Amino acid sequence: MIVGAGFAGASTAFHLSTDQSLRILVLEKEKVAGVHASGRNAALGRQITSSHLTTEFTVRGLSWLAHSTDLLNVTGAYYPTGSSESASKMLQAADRFGVEARGVSEATVYEHWEELRGLPLSDVVFVPGDGVIDVHGLLQFYLQEAISKNVTVRYNTEVASIDETRLQLADRTVIEATTIVNAAGPWAGTLANKERRLIPRRRHLFVSSKGAAPTRPFVWNVGENEYYLRDEGTGLLLCPCDELEMPPCDVRPASDAKALLAEKFKSSKPLTEKKIKAHWAGLRTFTPNREFLIEWDRDVENLFWVAGLGGHGVTASYAVGQTAAARIMKRHRNQFA
Ligand SMILES: Cc1cc2nc3c(=O)[nH]c(=O)nc-3n(C[C@H](O)[C@H](O)[C@H](O)COP(=O)(O)OP(=O)(O)OC[C@H]3O[C@@H](n4cnc5c(N)ncnc54)[C@H](O)[C@@H]3O)c2cc1C
Repeated sequence: MIVGAGFAGASTAFHLSTDQSLRILVLEKEKVAGVHASGRNAALGRQITSSHLTTEFTVRGLSWLAHSTDLLNVTGAYYPTGSSESASKMLQAADRFGVEARGVSEATVYEHWEELRGLPLSDVVFVPGDGVIDVHGLLQFYLQEAISKNVTVRYNTEVASIDETRLQLADRTVIEATTIVNAAGPWAGTLANKERRLIPRRRHLFVSSKGAAPTRPFVWNVGENEYYLRDEGTGLLLCPCDELEMPPCDVRPASDAKALLAEKFKSSKPLTEKKIKAHWAGLRTFTPNREFLIEWDRDVENLFWVAGLGGHGVTASYAVGQTAAARIMKRHRNQFA
């Protein structure tokens, strides 16, 4: 039984579905998949993150997207890091994971991104293999492939509580399962074994009405004053990289969200003058140490966690589901051997 049809649940279902002897049910409280973080993200495929543990997943995830699907638009990405020490750390990480990366001048970035003149950039790392992911296509791919095998997805089905091998639904129906996978995103921490602290953090995204050339390398300033932006259709997608801690909820944009964006880009006239035609907010959910949680529960025997995917859950999704399925299957093989 898998609770949640976001990237965590969908990719786990997809990988488990290769074992035709399993009967897998995915329960999703919304009427479609991808209503929360999995449908409200920036779609950036970034390989080198600030943690080696996470990078192991993002590199594997992106490599699969690049080599086995047509769901990645390889644009490359510029990462202004703010210091030579941070740039060399990023380049070392790239080297360790076999990812092509090199330092480039600020002038190279400004050449593509005239709008950024005025915003300080320094110690830029360019990762040519990064890109923009077709998020909707990817989520549907996992679900459709899984459904074509042995997986059933039930929408409009909210799990109220998990107790050992019993799931109680909001309509009070009780379902028994041999294994329960908690992939409930920001709600995962309130659903089962509350000892596990998961921290949802709100982040805003904005789409402007007019941009320049399509598919330039995206820019993610990972130094002080973090932000990112990329081309989106004929406009831009902009993010002030805010992260306010919040309880799990169907999060709405803050009333002062646009002010937040204006403050972040205040030294770029072309960016502050852009008309915002849409904006929204989503919850990125973290464990206290910001590493992914893909493991069996320590206290509840049949409960497996796929949660805390933070801000890299789309890029890493293939590898996250693959690791989850391998760990679940290992226990099953040992139990039934
Ligand atoms: C603004 C923003 C920008 C981001 N940008 C990027 C990016 O550029 N690149 C990247 O790789 N990642 C990005 N992310 C991160 C990525 O979107 C998440 O890591 C990923 O979507 C998390 O997937 P999930 O399945 O864990 O959670 P969710 O997408 O939240 O899915 C959980 C699902 O569980 C369901 N559920 C919850 N409780 C219950 C219940 N009780 N019963 C039944 N169903 C339940 C929910 O309805 C939901 O569908 C971003 C996230 C945000 C918010």
